[in-house]
Amino acid sequence: MPNYQLEESVALEAVVQAARVCQKVRADLASEETLIKKDRSPVTVADFSSQAIISRFLKKNFPNDPLVAEESASDLMQSGDDFIRERVFECVRTTERNLSDEEILQALDGGGYGGGPAGRFWTLDPIDGTKGFLRGEQYAVSLALIENGQVVLGVLGCPNYPEDWRRSDSRAGYLFAAKKDQGAYQQKIGDSEKRPIQVSDVQSPGEAIFCESVESGHSSHSDSKTIAERLGVTNPPLRLDSQCKYAAVARGDASIYLRLPTRADYQEKIWDHAAGVIVLEEAGGRATDIHGRPLDFSLGRTLRGNKGVAAANRRIHGQVVEAVRSVLKP
Ligand code: AMP
Ligand code: MG
Repeated sequence: MPNYQLEESVALEAVVQAARVCQKVRADLASEETLIKKDRSPVTVADFSSQAIISRFLKKNFPNDPLVAEESASDLMQSGDDFIRERVFECVRTTERNLSDEEILQALDGGGYGGGPAGRFWTLDPIDGTKGFLRGEQYAVSLALIENGQVVLGVLGCPNYPEDWRRSDSRAGYLFAAKKDQGAYQQKIGDSEKRPIQVSDVQSPGEAIFCESVESGHSSHSDSKTIAERLGVTNPPLRLDSQCKYAAVARGDASIYLRLPTRADYQEKIWDHAAGVIVLEEAGGRATDIHGRPLDFSLGRTLRGNKGVAAANRRIHGQVVEAVRSVLKP
Protein backbone atom coordinates (compact mmCIF):
# COMPACT_ATOMS: atom_id res chain seq x y z
CA MET A 1 0.00 0.00 0.00
CA PRO A 2 1.59 3.35 -0.98
CA ASN A 3 1.89 5.77 1.89
CA TYR A 4 0.23 8.75 0.15
CA GLN A 5 2.54 11.25 1.82
CA LEU A 6 2.41 13.87 -0.93
CA GLU A 7 -1.35 13.47 -1.30
CA GLU A 8 -1.75 13.93 2.44
CA SER A 9 0.32 17.09 2.66
CA VAL A 10 -1.35 18.67 -0.38
CA ALA A 11 -4.82 17.79 0.95
CA LEU A 12 -4.05 19.23 4.39
CA GLU A 13 -2.70 22.47 2.95
CA ALA A 14 -5.59 22.85 0.51
CA VAL A 15 -8.21 22.24 3.21
CA VAL A 16 -6.59 24.68 5.62
CA GLN A 17 -6.44 27.44 3.00
CA ALA A 18 -10.07 26.87 2.01
CA ALA A 19 -11.21 26.75 5.65
CA ARG A 20 -9.45 30.04 6.37
CA VAL A 21 -11.26 31.71 3.48
CA CYS A 22 -14.60 30.28 4.70
CA GLN A 23 -14.03 31.69 8.18
CA LYS A 24 -13.11 35.08 6.74
CA VAL A 25 -16.23 35.17 4.55
CA ARG A 26 -18.41 34.24 7.51
CA ALA A 27 -16.86 36.96 9.65
CA ASP A 28 -17.12 39.66 6.97
CA LEU A 29 -20.52 39.01 5.50
CA ALA A 30 -22.66 37.39 8.10
CA SER A 31 -24.03 40.42 9.85
CA GLU A 32 -27.10 39.91 12.01
CA GLU A 33 -29.12 41.29 9.15
CA THR A 34 -27.97 38.81 6.50
CA LEU A 35 -28.63 35.95 8.90
CA ILE A 36 -32.11 37.14 9.81
CA LYS A 37 -32.99 37.62 6.16
CA LYS A 38 -31.65 34.10 5.55
CA ASP A 39 -29.50 35.57 2.81
CA ARG A 40 -27.52 32.71 1.31
CA SER A 41 -24.79 34.86 -0.22
CA PRO A 42 -22.13 34.20 2.47
CA VAL A 43 -22.53 30.48 2.06
CA THR A 44 -22.54 30.75 -1.73
CA VAL A 45 -19.35 32.81 -1.79
CA ALA A 46 -17.58 30.53 0.67
CA ASP A 47 -18.76 27.34 -1.07
CA PHE A 48 -17.54 28.32 -4.53
CA SER A 49 -14.31 29.85 -3.22
CA SER A 50 -13.49 26.76 -1.18
CA GLN A 51 -14.07 24.48 -4.16
CA ALA A 52 -12.00 26.62 -6.55
CA ILE A 53 -9.09 26.84 -4.09
CA ILE A 54 -8.95 23.11 -3.45
CA SER A 55 -9.49 22.22 -7.08
CA ARG A 56 -6.48 24.45 -8.02
CA PHE A 57 -4.28 22.75 -5.43
CA LEU A 58 -5.20 19.33 -6.77
CA LYS A 59 -4.75 20.27 -10.42
CA LYS A 60 -1.29 21.72 -9.81
CA ASN A 61 -0.04 18.73 -7.86
CA PHE A 62 -1.97 15.86 -9.45
CA PRO A 63 -2.93 17.03 -12.93
CA ASN A 64 -4.30 13.63 -13.94
CA ASP A 65 -6.59 13.08 -10.97
CA PRO A 66 -10.29 13.77 -11.61
CA LEU A 67 -12.53 15.37 -8.99
CA VAL A 68 -16.09 14.63 -7.87
CA ALA A 69 -17.34 17.81 -6.21
CA GLU A 70 -20.61 19.43 -5.37
CA GLU A 71 -20.53 22.78 -7.22
CA SER A 72 -20.01 23.79 -10.85
CA ALA A 73 -18.95 26.97 -12.67
CA SER A 74 -22.21 27.11 -14.57
CA ASP A 75 -24.10 27.31 -11.25
CA LEU A 76 -21.97 30.32 -10.36
CA MET A 77 -22.42 31.97 -13.76
CA GLN A 78 -26.15 31.29 -13.73
CA SER A 79 -26.62 32.76 -10.27
CA GLY A 80 -26.79 36.07 -12.18
CA ASP A 81 -25.24 37.86 -9.25
CA ASP A 82 -22.15 39.89 -10.17
CA PHE A 83 -21.45 40.72 -6.55
CA ILE A 84 -21.21 37.05 -5.60
CA ARG A 85 -19.03 36.27 -8.60
CA GLU A 86 -16.62 39.12 -7.89
CA ARG A 87 -16.39 38.14 -4.24
CA VAL A 88 -15.53 34.56 -5.22
CA PHE A 89 -12.77 35.77 -7.56
CA GLU A 90 -11.44 38.04 -4.83
CA CYS A 91 -11.48 35.27 -2.20
CA VAL A 92 -9.70 32.76 -4.44
CA ARG A 93 -7.03 35.36 -5.26
CA THR A 94 -6.15 35.68 -1.58
CA THR A 95 -4.55 32.24 -2.00
CA GLU A 96 -3.15 32.62 -5.56
CA ARG A 97 -2.75 36.24 -6.51
CA ASN A 98 -2.44 36.25 -10.27
CA LEU A 99 -5.27 33.93 -11.23
CA SER A 100 -7.57 35.12 -14.02
CA ASP A 101 -11.36 34.89 -13.82
CA GLU A 102 -11.15 32.24 -16.52
CA GLU A 103 -8.70 30.09 -14.52
CA ILE A 104 -10.94 30.28 -11.47
CA LEU A 105 -14.00 29.21 -13.45
CA GLN A 106 -11.99 26.39 -14.97
CA ALA A 107 -10.97 25.23 -11.50
CA LEU A 108 -14.62 25.26 -10.46
CA ASP A 109 -15.59 23.19 -13.45
CA GLY A 110 -13.11 20.47 -12.64
CA GLY A 111 -15.55 18.81 -10.22
CA GLY A 112 -17.94 17.10 -12.59
CA TYR A 113 -16.31 13.66 -12.71
CA GLY A 114 -18.69 10.72 -12.41
CA GLY A 115 -16.69 8.57 -9.99
CA GLY A 116 -16.91 4.78 -10.28
CA PRO A 117 -15.01 1.57 -9.46
CA ALA A 118 -11.73 2.04 -11.37
CA GLY A 119 -8.69 4.26 -10.94
CA ARG A 120 -8.28 7.10 -8.51
CA PHE A 121 -10.19 10.34 -7.99
CA TRP A 122 -10.78 12.95 -5.30
CA THR A 123 -14.12 13.88 -3.80
CA LEU A 124 -14.86 17.22 -2.21
CA ASP A 125 -17.60 18.91 -0.26
CA PRO A 126 -16.32 22.50 -0.18
CA ILE A 127 -18.63 23.29 2.76
CA ASP A 128 -20.40 20.36 4.30
CA GLY A 129 -23.06 21.59 6.73
CA THR A 130 -23.97 24.91 5.12
CA LYS A 131 -26.66 25.49 7.74
CA GLY A 132 -24.11 25.07 10.50
CA PHE A 133 -21.78 27.46 8.67
CA LEU A 134 -24.51 30.12 8.61
CA ARG A 135 -25.36 29.58 12.27
CA GLY A 136 -21.69 29.91 13.23
CA GLU A 137 -21.75 26.29 14.37
CA GLN A 138 -20.22 23.13 12.93
CA TYR A 139 -19.28 22.66 9.30
CA ALA A 140 -16.50 20.82 7.50
CA VAL A 141 -14.35 21.30 4.43
CA SER A 142 -14.20 17.71 3.39
CA LEU A 143 -11.73 16.12 0.96
CA ALA A 144 -11.02 12.46 0.25
CA LEU A 145 -9.05 10.34 -2.20
CA ILE A 146 -10.71 7.20 -3.55
CA GLU A 147 -8.76 4.46 -5.31
CA ASN A 148 -10.44 1.50 -6.99
CA GLY A 149 -13.61 2.16 -5.03
CA GLN A 150 -11.86 2.38 -1.63
CA VAL A 151 -11.34 5.56 0.39
CA VAL A 152 -7.58 5.74 1.02
CA LEU A 153 -7.17 9.27 2.43
CA GLY A 154 -9.51 11.73 4.08
CA VAL A 155 -9.15 15.21 5.53
CA LEU A 156 -11.85 17.13 7.41
CA GLY A 157 -11.26 20.81 8.12
CA CYS A 158 -13.55 21.76 11.01
CA PRO A 159 -12.94 25.41 11.91
CA ASN A 160 -15.49 25.50 14.77
CA TYR A 161 -14.80 22.10 16.34
CA PRO A 162 -13.96 22.70 20.01
CA GLU A 163 -11.17 21.10 22.00
CA ASP A 164 -13.73 20.17 24.66
CA TRP A 165 -17.53 20.24 24.28
CA ARG A 166 -17.99 20.77 28.00
CA ARG A 167 -16.02 24.02 28.03
CA SER A 168 -17.47 26.90 26.06
CA ASP A 169 -14.15 28.79 26.18
CA SER A 170 -12.05 25.98 24.71
CA ARG A 171 -10.09 26.81 21.59
CA ALA A 172 -11.77 25.73 18.37
CA GLY A 173 -10.52 24.66 14.96
CA TYR A 174 -9.34 21.17 14.06
CA LEU A 175 -8.20 19.08 11.17
CA PHE A 176 -9.05 15.39 11.31
CA ALA A 177 -7.26 13.13 8.87
CA ALA A 178 -6.59 9.50 8.11
CA LYS A 179 -4.87 7.23 5.60
CA LYS A 180 -5.85 3.63 4.91
CA ASP A 181 -4.27 1.27 7.46
CA GLN A 182 -2.21 4.12 8.92
CA GLY A 183 -4.48 5.43 11.69
CA ALA A 184 -6.30 8.71 12.23
CA TYR A 185 -5.16 11.90 13.88
CA GLN A 186 -6.25 15.40 14.77
CA GLN A 187 -4.27 18.59 14.39
CA LYS A 188 -5.25 22.02 15.68
CA ILE A 189 -5.51 24.39 12.74
CA GLY A 190 -2.35 26.48 12.91
CA ASP A 191 -0.33 23.94 14.93
CA SER A 192 2.03 21.34 13.53
CA GLU A 193 1.50 18.56 16.06
CA LYS A 194 -0.54 15.57 14.87
CA ARG A 195 -2.16 13.59 17.70
CA PRO A 196 -3.59 10.12 17.11
CA ILE A 197 -7.29 9.79 17.85
CA GLN A 198 -9.34 6.78 18.89
CA VAL A 199 -12.98 5.97 19.35
CA SER A 200 -14.41 5.76 22.88
CA ASP A 201 -14.07 2.54 24.85
CA VAL A 202 -17.79 2.47 25.65
CA GLN A 203 -18.66 -1.22 26.09
CA SER A 204 -22.43 -1.13 25.91
CA PRO A 205 -24.79 1.07 23.90
CA GLY A 206 -26.58 2.21 27.08
CA GLU A 207 -23.53 4.29 28.05
CA ALA A 208 -23.20 5.87 24.62
CA ILE A 209 -23.73 9.41 23.46
CA PHE A 210 -25.14 9.40 19.96
CA CYS A 211 -24.93 12.15 17.41
CA GLU A 212 -27.19 13.07 14.57
CA SER A 213 -27.98 15.95 12.20
CA VAL A 214 -29.33 19.20 13.54
CA GLU A 215 -31.70 19.13 10.57
CA SER A 216 -34.53 16.63 11.05
CA GLY A 217 -35.03 16.74 7.26
CA HIS A 218 -31.62 15.01 6.85
CA SER A 219 -32.08 12.32 9.50
CA SER A 220 -35.24 11.35 11.35
CA HIS A 221 -35.09 12.55 14.95
CA SER A 222 -38.18 10.58 15.93
CA ASP A 223 -36.72 7.27 14.68
CA SER A 224 -33.42 7.94 16.44
CA LYS A 225 -35.29 8.60 19.67
CA THR A 226 -37.02 5.23 19.43
CA ILE A 227 -33.73 3.47 18.60
CA ALA A 228 -31.95 5.21 21.48
CA GLU A 229 -34.69 4.02 23.85
CA ARG A 230 -34.37 0.48 22.51
CA LEU A 231 -30.61 0.61 23.20
CA GLY A 232 -31.08 2.03 26.69
CA VAL A 233 -29.31 5.28 25.79
CA THR A 234 -30.03 7.91 28.43
CA ASN A 235 -27.66 10.70 27.33
CA PRO A 236 -29.23 13.44 25.21
CA PRO A 237 -28.18 13.41 21.54
CA LEU A 238 -25.28 15.53 20.36
CA ARG A 239 -26.71 17.32 17.33
CA LEU A 240 -24.11 18.59 14.88
CA ASP A 241 -24.11 19.63 11.27
CA SER A 242 -21.73 18.08 8.74
CA GLN A 243 -19.16 15.27 8.88
CA CYS A 244 -18.05 16.65 12.23
CA LYS A 245 -20.32 13.83 13.46
CA TYR A 246 -17.83 11.24 12.15
CA ALA A 247 -15.04 13.19 13.85
CA ALA A 248 -17.03 13.28 17.10
CA VAL A 249 -17.25 9.48 17.14
CA ALA A 250 -13.64 9.11 15.93
CA ARG A 251 -12.26 11.13 18.85
CA GLY A 252 -14.65 9.64 21.42
CA ASP A 253 -16.84 12.71 22.03
CA ALA A 254 -19.73 10.44 21.03
CA SER A 255 -19.97 6.71 20.31
CA ILE A 256 -22.79 6.39 17.77
CA TYR A 257 -23.72 8.34 14.63
CA LEU A 258 -27.13 7.61 13.10
CA ARG A 259 -28.33 8.99 9.78
CA LEU A 260 -31.85 7.68 9.33
CA PRO A 261 -33.55 8.20 5.97
CA THR A 262 -36.40 10.69 5.85
CA ARG A 263 -37.23 9.86 2.22
CA ALA A 264 -37.10 6.51 0.46
CA ASP A 265 -35.62 7.98 -2.72
CA TYR A 266 -32.71 9.98 -1.25
CA GLN A 267 -29.23 8.86 -2.32
CA GLU A 268 -26.39 9.94 -0.05
CA LYS A 269 -23.60 11.79 -1.86
CA ILE A 270 -20.07 10.36 -1.70
CA TRP A 271 -18.60 13.77 -0.73
CA ASP A 272 -20.85 13.83 2.35
CA HIS A 273 -19.21 10.69 3.75
CA ALA A 274 -15.86 9.65 2.23
CA ALA A 275 -13.50 11.71 4.41
CA GLY A 276 -15.56 11.18 7.56
CA VAL A 277 -15.76 7.43 7.09
CA ILE A 278 -12.00 6.86 6.78
CA VAL A 279 -11.30 9.11 9.76
CA LEU A 280 -13.79 7.09 11.81
CA GLU A 281 -12.61 3.67 10.64
CA GLU A 282 -8.94 4.43 11.13
CA ALA A 283 -9.77 5.61 14.66
CA GLY A 284 -11.25 2.18 15.39
CA GLY A 285 -14.86 2.71 14.39
CA ARG A 286 -17.15 1.09 11.87
CA ALA A 287 -19.55 2.74 9.44
CA THR A 288 -22.22 0.87 7.50
CA ASP A 289 -25.66 1.71 6.22
CA ILE A 290 -28.81 1.03 8.25
CA HIS A 291 -28.92 -2.56 6.95
CA GLY A 292 -25.36 -3.16 8.19
CA ARG A 293 -23.96 -3.16 4.63
CA PRO A 294 -20.56 -1.57 3.96
CA LEU A 295 -20.75 1.87 2.34
CA ASP A 296 -19.94 1.41 -1.34
CA PHE A 297 -17.97 4.31 -2.84
CA SER A 298 -17.53 2.61 -6.21
CA LEU A 299 -20.96 3.30 -7.70
CA GLY A 300 -20.55 6.87 -8.96
CA ARG A 301 -21.34 10.20 -7.34
CA THR A 302 -23.79 8.74 -4.82
CA LEU A 303 -23.95 5.84 -2.39
CA ARG A 304 -26.85 4.43 -4.35
CA GLY A 305 -26.28 0.92 -3.03
CA ASN A 306 -26.85 2.06 0.55
CA LYS A 307 -29.51 3.62 2.76
CA GLY A 308 -28.60 5.98 5.59
CA VAL A 309 -25.66 5.44 7.93
CA ALA A 310 -25.11 3.63 11.21
CA ALA A 311 -21.65 4.27 12.65
CA ALA A 312 -20.20 3.46 16.03
CA ASN A 313 -17.17 2.19 17.83
CA ARG A 314 -16.54 -1.40 16.77
CA ARG A 315 -17.52 -2.99 20.03
CA ILE A 316 -21.11 -1.76 19.90
CA HIS A 317 -21.68 -1.39 16.16
CA GLY A 318 -23.41 -4.77 15.78
CA GLN A 319 -25.90 -4.01 18.56
CA VAL A 320 -26.58 -0.57 17.09
CA VAL A 321 -27.39 -2.01 13.66
CA GLU A 322 -29.59 -4.66 15.25
CA ALA A 323 -31.59 -1.95 17.07
CA VAL A 324 -31.85 0.15 13.90
CA ARG A 325 -33.14 -2.84 11.96
CA SER A 326 -35.64 -3.80 14.60
CA VAL A 327 -37.09 -0.29 14.73
CA LEU A 328 -36.99 0.62 11.03
CA LYS A 329 -37.52 -2.88 9.64
CA PRO A 330 -35.68 -1.81 6.50
P1 AMP B 1 -25.94 17.19 7.92
O1 AMP B 1 -25.15 18.40 8.20
O2 AMP B 1 -25.38 15.95 8.49
O3 AMP B 1 -27.40 17.37 8.26
O4 AMP B 1 -25.87 16.91 6.38
C1 AMP B 1 -25.71 17.88 5.42
C2 AMP B 1 -25.85 17.20 4.09
O5 AMP B 1 -27.12 16.59 3.99
C3 AMP B 1 -25.79 18.12 2.90
O6 AMP B 1 -24.49 18.17 2.42
C4 AMP B 1 -26.73 17.49 1.88
O7 AMP B 1 -25.98 16.95 0.81
C5 AMP B 1 -27.37 16.34 2.63
N1 AMP B 1 -28.82 16.18 2.44
C6 AMP B 1 -29.68 16.97 1.75
N2 AMP B 1 -30.93 16.46 1.77
C7 AMP B 1 -30.86 15.30 2.47
C8 AMP B 1 -31.83 14.29 2.83
N3 AMP B 1 -33.12 14.38 2.50
N4 AMP B 1 -31.39 13.23 3.55
C9 AMP B 1 -30.11 13.14 3.93
N5 AMP B 1 -29.15 14.06 3.62
C10 AMP B 1 -29.52 15.13 2.91
MG1 MG C 1 -22.50 18.20 2.33
